[in-house]
Amino acid sequence: MKLQNFDIIVVGAGPGGSIAAKVAAENGFSTLIIDKEVIGEKGRYKACGGALAWELVEEIDYPEEKIARVIESLELHHVDGTDYSKKGKGAVVWRSTFDQFLTNMAIDSGAVFKEEEALIDIKKIRDTHEIVTQKGKYSAKYIIASDGVTSPTLKLLKWPYFKSEDLILTITKEMKTIKSDIDDTLGNDTVHLFFGVKDLIPVGYAWLFPKTETITVGWGNQINLVKNSREEFKKFENLPFVRNALKNSTQTIFKPHLIPVGLRQQLYEDNVFAVGDSGGIVDPISGKGIPYAMMSGQFAIEAIKAGEKKDRLDKIGTFYRKSLDRRFLKILVAKREARDHIFQNDENIKKFLSLWESHRSSEIVMRKLL
Ligand SMILES: Cc1cc2nc3c(=O)[nH]c(=O)nc-3n(C[C@H](O)[C@H](O)[C@H](O)COP(=O)(O)OP(=O)(O)OC[C@H]3O[C@@H](n4cnc5c(N)ncnc54)[C@H](O)[C@@H]3O)c2cc1C
Repeated sequence: MKLQNFDIIVVGAGPGGSIAAKVAAENGFSTLIIDKEVIGEKGRYKACGGALAWELVEEIDYPEEKIARVIESLELHHVDGTDYSKKGKGAVVWRSTFDQFLTNMAIDSGAVFKEEEALIDIKKIRDTHEIVTQKGKYSAKYIIASDGVTSPTLKLLKWPYFKSEDLILTITKEMKTIKSDIDDTLGNDTVHLFFGVKDLIPVGYAWLFPKTETITVGWGNQINLVKNSREEFKKFENLPFVRNALKNSTQTIFKPHLIPVGLRQQLYEDNVFAVGDSGGIVDPISGKGIPYAMMSGQFAIEAIKAGEKKDRLDKIGTFYRKSLDRRFLKILVAKREARDHIFQNDENIKKFLSLWESHRSSEIVMRKLL
């Protein structure tokens, strides 16, 4: 097998990897991006609510016809019957379509994309990393590990994994129904979140996200507190509001997946970067990870560029960490602490939900409004 050399290899073509590959190629680095799956409508199913802030939709010029539903509001339900609502424009997307859009951006910028190629081995030979997939052997000075929460790349490199209190076990069901039923039961532009420490989920929440003719039903709880995930999920599905919304629907997908809600102990070592979920770069309160994956992919490449330009290769890890800190990482770290307080009891949850109606969660946490 002939070894092919690149400046940068990106492992995983989710949002983090595709943006890293796009920015790398735009900056003149020869770039390979691989994914173990096929990315696209007929390709892998990624369990995700697919909720995006409208600013992100605009920033990447995401075509309106690819949006599964435009959202104008968020309804927050506590199981004791108290409801809160929050206005704000957003979009719900299918990840297959969204991820393919981002991957195409990377390809258009000049990155080489190889699908159905899983990284199965990685080793350091002098100052380059050599990776092996089922189909080829590649080498590069820099590796972007954007291969998700279980990151095979970082596992092979023996980086420490997440603590169990920093992992959320989620279950997603896609429920096919008709548009008019969604509009009648959920509203035509509203996503719904469900909370209740005592009677529903100790540390986490559940959700109903409407797409065009499908409702994405999700549930997530801190993994070390899960006793029986299917039973706990059923408890959520049996809430009268949820039963009514799903009454005429048919299940098409059932998929468990993890969300990391605390950072990895390290995000960089020896020219390897943890980007997006592989680094735990996710909002610990909401589980939102798409924008952070995209930004961390960009910052990793900018750190390489700055290190090479200033001839300070020893500083690349610091550059990466500093950009992350400056833009959002300090807030995510503060949110991780706040999360424990918010989910301590139903009183705290309700206080948070009522503040959330009129404030951003980062404002609640950073201004210590709780
Ligand atoms: C149930 C659920 C709901 C969510 N809802 C939202 C939401 O509404 N909004 C939001 O912003 N975030 C949401 N998130 C979080 C969001 O999905 C992640 O934060 C985001 O996908 C992280 O992107 P990433 O690029 O880091 O990794 P991923 O999107 O996980 O991509 C990793 C890629 O790596 C590939 N890969 C894995 N192993 C290998 C290998 N050995 N070789 C090659 N490729 C490999 C995978 O096939 C995959 O394509 C949700 C997550 C879950 C689980």
